[in-house]
Amino acid sequence: PVRVRMAPSPTGSPHVGLARTALFNWAFARHHGGTFVFRIEDTDKERNTEESYQSLIEVMQWLGLDWDEGVVVGGPYGPYRQSERTEIYTDVLARLRESSWTYDCFCTTDEVTARRKASGSKVMGYDGFCRDLTDDQRAAFEAEGRSSVVRFRMPDGEITFTDLVRGDITFQTEFVPDFALARANGDPLYTLTAPVDDATMKISHVLRGEDLLSSTPRQIALFEGLKAIGVADFTPEFGHLPYVMGEGNKKLSKRDPEAHLLAYRDQGYVPEGLLNYLALLGWSIAADRDVFTLAEMVEAFDLADVQPNPARFDAKKASAINADHMRMLTLDDLTYRVIPFLKAAGVVTDPVNDADARMLELAMPLVAERMNKLTEAPELLGFLFVDDADFALVDTIDEAGKEVVQASYAALSQLETWSTAAIEEALRDALIEKLGLKPRKAFGPVRIAVSGRKVSPPLFESIELLGRERTMARLHHALH
Ligand code: GLU
Repeated sequence: PVRVRMAPSPTGSPHVGLARTALFNWAFARHHGGTFVFRIEDTDKERNTEESYQSLIEVMQWLGLDWDEGVVVGGPYGPYRQSERTEIYTDVLARLRESSWTYDCFCTTDEVTARRKASGSKVMGYDGFCRDLTDDQRAAFEAEGRSSVVRFRMPDGEITFTDLVRGDITFQTEFVPDFALARANGDPLYTLTAPVDDATMKISHVLRGEDLLSSTPRQIALFEGLKAIGVADFTPEFGHLPYVMGEGNKKLSKRDPEAHLLAYRDQGYVPEGLLNYLALLGWSIAADRDVFTLAEMVEAFDLADVQPNPARFDAKKASAINADHMRMLTLDDLTYRVIPFLKAAGVVTDPVNDADARMLELAMPLVAERMNKLTEAPELLGFLFVDDADFALVDTIDEAGKEVVQASYAALSQLETWSTAAIEEALRDALIEKLGLKPRKAFGPVRIAVSGRKVSPPLFESIELLGRERTMARLHHALH
């Protein structure tokens, strides 16, 4: 059965690469009817924060990438936070040590560096000095009061595996030094915890970012040990997703503002739009098609279509795809989603009162097709919800504009029925017919007077919604 996982470390704020990895794992699991596991790799006590952990959960929930096992929801192979699994790692480490998959290493970093220099070796990292210590040598080191770390014995030769994205990859193990599995104080390291979790959680496919490719030969080697001591049943398959490049073709880094996931929520993206864009960072549904739903992605998702070459992050494209997804929402759904933004901007009350709710229902059809992000709603709709309008732009109406406003005031004050059709007819008659103005010259000043904006929802509909009293007051105000 397909069992995949995402295993972020709770350091800093969740970024685009992490969400892309989550999405591809999720889509792979859903496509195959498999299980998606969400675990937390929080062994690095210094760098982990509770805030970061919470925001990881928040991101996954906002994106709607539901997980079958893991933090919050639990599952048969828990706990799912590495900080709560210390006993498991300690036990596995002891068993690996007993069966000589590892050895104790007493060297200091300085000693290793000095030996590497002296031998002129180009290989970096540990040189295997303590691999075959005699009991006397050990005893001597211990007598010196040296501390030791447990190192894994890398096999000689090469390690070859078939990367699910990149095809066959071979590592010469002479370039993959023996590595520590735990700190001197016994705290387990990522090198141990990730494979142990993948083994005990029965992960079938490890799909993760290319930055982790270099740890794969170590993990594959360690899996041999885990299988030998009965911790693992099999070695998972591995696939490495392409780097995401930002501005100037540099790897998108956590420092880039566009890398931060929750910023997209705050900027008014809908998760459907962002997920669609994230899907394009390495995958495509068809050569000529950029916009699709999550369900379509699940249906079509195949690792064979993931490209190994770096993906370019293009904020403009992300925004355009988001706009397409906004148009795909039903009016009710869109309304539901803009409400938090309207509340935050103080446009509607919290909870929404009846009058505001009614206004929103009437106004949303006017703006639904014009919004590219949810954050545009307060700007577009705000003028309909305020009583005393004191728009800054009104001061830009010149003398000619004031004449237009004056004529509009006169025409609308005669109006018996306050309807879009009647308003349009009266204004066209007064401004286009009688004053002989071009539509832009005619309606521009009226638009500014009633909405305070140069661009607004359709003018006549807006005036109807605004109502007679508020419209007349605004036109009057613009004349003074
Ligand atoms: N915890 C690792 C990270 O945050 C992921 C490890 C993995 O996927 O194997 O980059």
